[in-house]
Amino acid sequence: MLNNQGRPTAPHESSAPAQSARKTFTSNRALQIEEALIFEIGGNSATGVDIDEPAAFAPRLGAHERASPIGLPGLSEPETLRHYVRLSQKNYSIDAGLYPLGSCTMKHNPRLNEAMARLPGFGDIHPLQPQSTVQGALELIDALAHWLMTMTGTHAVAMTPKAGAHGEMCGMMAIRAAIEARGESGARNVVLVPDSAHGTNPATAALIGFTVRAVPARDDGTLAIEAVQAALGPDVAAIMLTNPNTCGLFERDVIAVAEAVHAAGAYFYCDGANFNAIVGKARPGDLGIDAMHINLHKTFSTPHGGGGPGAGPVVLSDRLAPFAPLPFITRAGGALRLEEHGGGGQAFGRITAFHGQMGMFVRAYAYMLSHGSDGMRQASEDAVLNANYARVCLSDLMSPAFGARTCMHEALFSDEWLKGTGVTTLDFAKAMIDEGYHPMTVYFPLIVHGAMLIEPTESESRASLDLFIMALRDLAFAVKRGDTARFTGAPYFAPRGRLDETRAARQPVLRWRPRAPVSDAQAAE
Ligand SMILES: *Cc1c(COP(=O)(O)O)cnc(C)c1O
Repeated sequence: MLNNQGRPTAPHESSAPAQSARKTFTSNRALQIEEALIFEIGGNSATGVDIDEPAAFAPRLGAHERASPIGLPGLSEPETLRHYVRLSQKNYSIDAGLYPLGSCTMKHNPRLNEAMARLPGFGDIHPLQPQSTVQGALELIDALAHWLMTMTGTHAVAMTPKAGAHGEMCGMMAIRAAIEARGESGARNVVLVPDSAHGTNPATAALIGFTVRAVPARDDGTLAIEAVQAALGPDVAAIMLTNPNTCGLFERDVIAVAEAVHAAGAYFYCDGANFNAIVGKARPGDLGIDAMHINLHKTFSTPHGGGGPGAGPVVLSDRLAPFAPLPFITRAGGALRLEEHGGGGQAFGRITAFHGQMGMFVRAYAYMLSHGSDGMRQASEDAVLNANYARVCLSDLMSPAFGARTCMHEALFSDEWLKGTGVTTLDFAKAMIDEGYHPMTVYFPLIVHGAMLIEPTESESRASLDLFIMALRDLAFAVKRGDTARFTGAPYFAPRGRLDETRAARQPVLRWRPRAPVSDAQAAE
């Protein structure tokens, strides 16, 4: 209504369920309140604070003095508060309900973690404080590093990367440094990436200057050792392999892959985003990996997906350990030191300004200590059990991507069962929104047609899973009955209907511009 930039701000005109199309005077729907941009609701007449007029002064900015008004929106405190609270309510989260987004491990972040992260000794410190005043925080980082190495069976870890993709970059930069140290940097410039990989893998390899060579997965969704051998050569620097992989399957040939890669003089980067399926069950170091990132925000429950920043420490094999980035922690006598310069001399440099995501380290460590080794192993077992429960309960109506094969932490379906129904994977996902469920991951991994990837995680109770499964079964029966209207325009009950996603991606409106310039009189306010 207020927006003049081509974004529809009125609820979608829908063809289906009559009452959903009914308009309201305010555009609010039930207690879901329509919210304009802060620039559209704020004006020049209000302010949340009371500041004295500044005394007259002569600015000395010369040519840098602002010539036009800044145009910030003015709102009272309650208006501001309501704006942000309403926006926060539009952000679906694991705290609001089941969030089965495959490959994302949207698990519960226990409130104990929050309490620990807010302790003043962790929450109120500054990265530039003298190290002698933050010994406890360094101790926590060191203890977390110890347990990450213990759980993965490795001897070094770089704690600073701030996300999974950032960890990939860190690990691949260590590999590049190791190859340079061997004097082979011109010769080895290819990275093998299976075609089931997460898009960040080829993106990382390409970003730091490698050429990507795709390795096809076999029909059962895993990588065959023969395919890896065929792709290996003296030009190969590394393989990037996800295990368990993005099809939710454990790579059975992983040890043979590691041996073949090492025999060819290359390194094994493992994408560890799916570590939640095997914590306490298998140690990636025993499988022959050289580097692996761990998404603390997936496996160790720290909030993500709009709820908080990530953290992607990378464990390293002995062969790569000397190339780990700065800073790292050393112990001298009783005190801990953050080694900021030089180190052993072979560090590839640094990839963050400071030491990593302290708040996330505290949450992940609190999660580990409160669960214990038995609790973490059980979390992995329950995550796998829940995924298989969903897989089995939906297999008679939907098409499991790999037959009756047991999956790890996520269940993958193809769109085979939708063929000829007029309903697509996207339609099905949108109809889930009407049922109050965040959709699963769709159209990923790319090797499965119309993929639907469900990862319930261990956080869900049996009752919660049963309700989710019944909702999906009800939708699947509607597909089979030919009730396509329930899908093709969905979501009908959301304040926004189906958006033109292609146009949104191709012509995004990322900047708000005022309709008329602010006048000098307004600017003087
Ligand atoms: C989530 C994920 C990543 C990237 O992790 P971010 O923390 O989002 O950068 C990489 N690979 C796989 C398989 C993932 O699931």
